[in-house]
Amino acid sequence: MAKLRRRENRDLEDRQGKIVNVQQLTIVGAGASGMMAAISARQSARALGVTDDRFRILLIERNPEPGAKIAISGGGHCNLTHDGPVERLIQKGFLRKNEQRFVKPAIYAFDNRELCSLFERYGVPSTARDDGRVFPVSGIARDVVDAMRQMLRDASADLVSGTRVEALEMVSDRFALRAGDRFFDADAVVLAAGGSAWGASGTTGDGFRLAAALGHRIESVLPALAPVFFTVPPDPGIVGVTLRGVGLVVESQRGRDVSVGDLLMSHRGISGPACLSLSRSVAGVMAEGGDAPLLFADFFPGHEPAEVSSFVLAHISRHGSQFVRTFLQRCPMAPERLEPYDASRAPHQETIPNAFVPELMARAGIGHDQTLSVLTRQQRNALVAVLKRFVLGKARKVPLDRAEVTAGGVCLAEVDPKTMRSRLHRRLFCCGELLDYAGEVGGFNLQAAFSTGWMAGAHAARELFG
Ligand SMILES: Cc1cc2nc3c(=O)[nH]c(=O)nc-3n(C[C@H](O)[C@H](O)[C@H](O)COP(=O)(O)OP(=O)(O)OC[C@H]3O[C@@H](n4cnc5c(N)ncnc54)[C@H](O)[C@@H]3O)c2cc1C
Repeated sequence: MAKLRRRENRDLEDRQGKIVNVQQLTIVGAGASGMMAAISARQSARALGVTDDRFRILLIERNPEPGAKIAISGGGHCNLTHDGPVERLIQKGFLRKNEQRFVKPAIYAFDNRELCSLFERYGVPSTARDDGRVFPVSGIARDVVDAMRQMLRDASADLVSGTRVEALEMVSDRFALRAGDRFFDADAVVLAAGGSAWGASGTTGDGFRLAAALGHRIESVLPALAPVFFTVPPDPGIVGVTLRGVGLVVESQRGRDVSVGDLLMSHRGISGPACLSLSRSVAGVMAEGGDAPLLFADFFPGHEPAEVSSFVLAHISRHGSQFVRTFLQRCPMAPERLEPYDASRAPHQETIPNAFVPELMARAGIGHDQTLSVLTRQQRNALVAVLKRFVLGKARKVPLDRAEVTAGGVCLAEVDPKTMRSRLHRRLFCCGELLDYAGEVGGFNLQAAFSTGWMAGAHAARELFG
């Protein structure tokens, strides 16, 4: 990189005519974590009695506008965070123990309640849904971005947008950044450039390259919270159908992995919460090479095959003259308790979708007009087996460009979780999705980005003025 350029306006005179040194914090990336870092850096500096003119906070953003990912989050509604006690939030949102340990200090330092009250103060009250997911009352993700822009103005943070940082290096004890033919320097840097998922929103892994250039190890990058594409696309008859509350099982040379939730059949494979949750594990297996993982649905998660078999037998003994297809069409799907149901009445709860019934019967070798009483033992066993193990397909791809988050990234061991400070460079801070963690669906990723950003900004300010 070209030599560090001399800074303009680095020093200024205070009211008494004394020359004071201006410190500059440069933040790469104006997403959730970067903007929050700027806001908290100013708050911390002010708390330390540092006047704004002594501390320049500069955000450099590649996109024309900040917060592109927030604006599309939660289907445009922005699932801001998750409700409930912090400990539970962490356990529910981060399934790997090392990731839980890493995000814990940051989320405790700036938790879901503080996050919601900050947005409320800026005119964006939020509300928790029954499943714990928290959204702005307006349901408009753009409101969150607009509130953050106002927070940035109040924090006197300068935003340079449409500018892509291409190089970052240390020159003596300062940082030099290059973006095209523009040069920036900084006393401290917060890297908040996100991961490489959903590249259309501006995240194509630049943060990883910039961190690696400063010596950081980057753990293998994988898509997470993504759809899974199959080698053979699903039958058009079931495309668009949602299986509610079913078990999704991934089988591979690594073993089995299970998640329970809604599953959506798509043109190329599957999507929906159960799939998003398992996609990281599918992508991990695929990255190792070997046989492609096999995915199947379990229509009775939480119930052993023997229980399902007794349930079917009990139903046959009461409603032997019923068509098998009618039994399946009215059969409760993923029920908590397996009890005989009243076959003569329309079902009140979620049932196996009609679109799946012909395929279930075909796979069990049952004819279209067969009644329950004439099922052979072999057919009955086959029906139970297929209800517990309905093969959906073999994974072909977990697309990174359709993933909501990136797993992998800056090695957690090289960043102090209590400050977000790099263990390699005293004045370098890393936060957000750039780091090697990935949360579940439910507002956990934004909470982690806000919390780690908050912590990075606060400690960057303390490092410069503490
Ligand atoms: C479609 C979608 C829906 C989602 N919905 C939710 C949800 O509802 N709830 C939830 O919790 N999470 C959701 N997420 C995940 C969540 O949005 C991210 O985890 C979170 O935004 C990460 O914040 P971040 O600041 O670390 O990174 P980002 O928000 O990705 O911000 C990084 C910023 O850095 C900029 N940048 C990158 N490289 C450079 C460079 N070289 N120079 C300058 N700037 C650069 C990028 O343009 C970007 O603005 C969703 C993600 C997607 C893709």
